[in-house]
Amino acid sequence: MKFVSTVLLSTICMGAIAQEPKNVIMVVGDGMGPAYTTAYRYFSDDRNTPEVERTVFDRLMVGMASTYPAPVSGYVTDSAAGATALSSGIKTYNGAIAVDVDKEPVKTVLEWAKEHGMKTGVAVTSQINHATPAGYSAHNESRKNYNEIADSYFDRKVANDFVLDVMLGGGWQYFKRDDRNLIAEFTAAGYEYVDNIAALKDTDETKPLLGLFADQGLNWALDMPDKQRLQTLTETAVKHLENDKGFFLLVEASQVDWAGHSNDVGAAMGEMQDLASTMTWLEEYVDTHPDTLVVLTADHSTGGFTIGANTVYKWEPQWVQNLKASPFSIAKQLMKAKDKAPLASDLLGFTLTGEEKSAIESIDTEDEEVAYQTVKTLLDLRTNTGWTTGGHTGVDVPVFAKGPGSDKFRGSINNTQVADNIFTLLGRE
Ligand code: MG
Ligand code: ZN
Repeated sequence: MKFVSTVLLSTICMGAIAQEPKNVIMVVGDGMGPAYTTAYRYFSDDRNTPEVERTVFDRLMVGMASTYPAPVSGYVTDSAAGATALSSGIKTYNGAIAVDVDKEPVKTVLEWAKEHGMKTGVAVTSQINHATPAGYSAHNESRKNYNEIADSYFDRKVANDFVLDVMLGGGWQYFKRDDRNLIAEFTAAGYEYVDNIAALKDTDETKPLLGLFADQGLNWALDMPDKQRLQTLTETAVKHLENDKGFFLLVEASQVDWAGHSNDVGAAMGEMQDLASTMTWLEEYVDTHPDTLVVLTADHSTGGFTIGANTVYKWEPQWVQNLKASPFSIAKQLMKAKDKAPLASDLLGFTLTGEEKSAIESIDTEDEEVAYQTVKTLLDLRTNTGWTTGGHTGVDVPVFAKGPGSDKFRGSINNTQVADNIFTLLGRE
């Protein structure tokens, strides 16, 4: 009965919905600077219609955020300081996991949620102890202390409970080690454990859940049978977390950043496609669950990615629209192949020019990095994509929001405001 009346009430009150959300879903597109969401618009454009179709990012965009870390680290942040700003509202040094410049722990919105009776979870495509999820769920002076961070997910209690009710992502090598088997420890503590994404649909929604699907990060979206893997993880996490007292879920499209570091436009668009389908699902979820706030932003931009390069006024994303695998996987297949050009044509989805054929034929069986670079260069030239660095850049990042409280994220904000707003919406004075 209680459930029925809540549904009725929220239906009746639609016009004046509470400004405090019951559930908060924070989404981070790691490395997803403005060029990525812009590129995705043209990548997904239906070229048979005269208009450029709007994307889920266009529909949900509310503003921009600065990303600079604490002064000691200058103006260009890493993902650890970025996550700490977004999770706690505190600017810190690059490498810091939810600790301040004095290495003192700072409270995160996820911990606050847990302390106030909400369920908590992470659903990410990196290892679950990587900088961004750790920045919400752990405290450590260095993001590199992967084992310590993994251990803390089991050892550290928040409000007499484990910090996370649902953990979905990669990380076997940190959770099952010679010195410790955290998977066994979580299982003994009552968590259900699954090691493949297909098994998620059969999990018991009444139990806490640990799902690990790779040694470190998951494979590229383009190389997975489930190319919308982040959406699958997100849907599962939400189903497990739904409860009367609400939940806080961190979702991360972790590998937009990794595509940026690799200067790989094909992989970047594959990761953005997975994020776009995740956001489309979340947009519909807020429509049917108007007590839920969804916020998406990036921690920084990666690669100096831009669309249009080499003094040529064009960007042609159609050349990465029909990839049958990620550029890295294509490169590895080409290293082994005898007849390289026809295979390249098939995997890339277009006919090669003479020049491209000779580049592909020159791939030898020895050097994986050179082979990968050959494929990436071919695609950069085809699409006319530009990159300025293998690292991060300091440009502002877009902010997206939908649901109760989303107005607070409008305009030009500091990344710390994202955490401050969530704390306020969850009742912190
Ligand atoms: Mg990250
Ligand atoms: Zn990065």
